[in-house]
Amino acid sequence: MRNIILTGDRPTGKLHIGHYVGSLKRRVELQNSGKFDEIYVMIADAQALTDNFDNPDKVRANITEVALDYLACGLDPAKSTIFVQSHIEQLTELTYYYMNLVTLARLERNPTVKAEIKQKNFEHSLPMGFLTYPVSQTADITAFKATVVPVGEDQLPMLEQAREIVRSFNGLYGDTLVEPKAVLPDNKSCLRLPGTDGMAKMSKSLGNCIYLSDSADEIKRKVMGMYTDPNHIKVTDAGDTKNNPTFIYLDAFSSSEHFERYLPEYANLDELKAHYERGGLGDMKVKKFLNAVMQETLEPIRTRREELEKDISAVWEMLKVGSEKARGVAAQTLAEVKRAMKINYFE
Ligand code: ATP
Ligand code: MG
Repeated sequence: MRNIILTGDRPTGKLHIGHYVGSLKRRVELQNSGKFDEIYVMIADAQALTDNFDNPDKVRANITEVALDYLACGLDPAKSTIFVQSHIEQLTELTYYYMNLVTLARLERNPTVKAEIKQKNFEHSLPMGFLTYPVSQTADITAFKATVVPVGEDQLPMLEQAREIVRSFNGLYGDTLVEPKAVLPDNKSCLRLPGTDGMAKMSKSLGNCIYLSDSADEIKRKVMGMYTDPNHIKVTDAGDTKNNPTFIYLDAFSSSEHFERYLPEYANLDELKAHYERGGLGDMKVKKFLNAVMQETLEPIRTRREELEKDISAVWEMLKVGSEKARGVAAQTLAEVKRAMKINYFE
């Protein structure tokens, strides 16, 4: 079987460091590993419209932002097909057929969707499109016969849903679709990076993000203003490093080289954590170190992004070429699906 990746992001904002450690960094590594036959990276504008249908300008503008973030992080259109979801109309048709294979009760049980409904105040006016987005996500994944989907932890229920639909489809109509597998980050702190405000998830919709495109000053301001352990008031107080986003970010981003360069009095993160936990280490010192680490990590991404911003039409041309290619692949799968469902009357 061929090794195929499909993954993507919603164009609801610029990408942040949660996306970077949760998915983007891994994608670039997988892309460059040479172990995959095909890689598809989708900008999920149709999905973004399910909860932003009243704001098409926002979705449109952010397609450019997400594409710039991709290229700045090292996704390479020569190796990965980068495309726009709404351009592939076959995905809508697949979604329509897959809807028959899911019950309302099953969709309502999805824990990620449940949490998002609450967060978006959709409890009393839930758009059908939003509730069914996991089905459309199944169409995205299966259209490209993806075997591997690198995502953050919040996407596991979507992958489970996709696998169920694939099994139902293949059971009813014969072996046609491929069951995908989620790939999560190895580093536990990257599964769901918390927000700078200490909220469980850094999210474009929550406004608690450090963006890949933030200026050096913005990064510093955000790091210095981060939520830490509210009970760690005096430097001498013992502090908590487990629910403290500054330490979780250090888990996600810092290396022993960073300690050598910026904080040589500690050999590694374990030593720094131990000091904070027994008391005597101030938040300011931790934040200064975190700021140095974040600056070093984000500076090359920002510089590449500024370079790419000079030619936006080249970015759209790249998306157009990618979308045409993706459309051809999806059309082939749709034809197989219709054949399996015996609705290929005029073939
Ligand atoms: P929105 O609020 O519009 O849903 P989002 O910030 O959740 O935006 P998505 O486009 O929904 O971003 O997610 C894209 C990918 O990034 C998914 O694979 C998701 O799991 C991952 N991801 C998003 N936020 C985080 C995070 N804080 N930590 C780790 N991974 C994340
Ligand atoms: Mg999301």
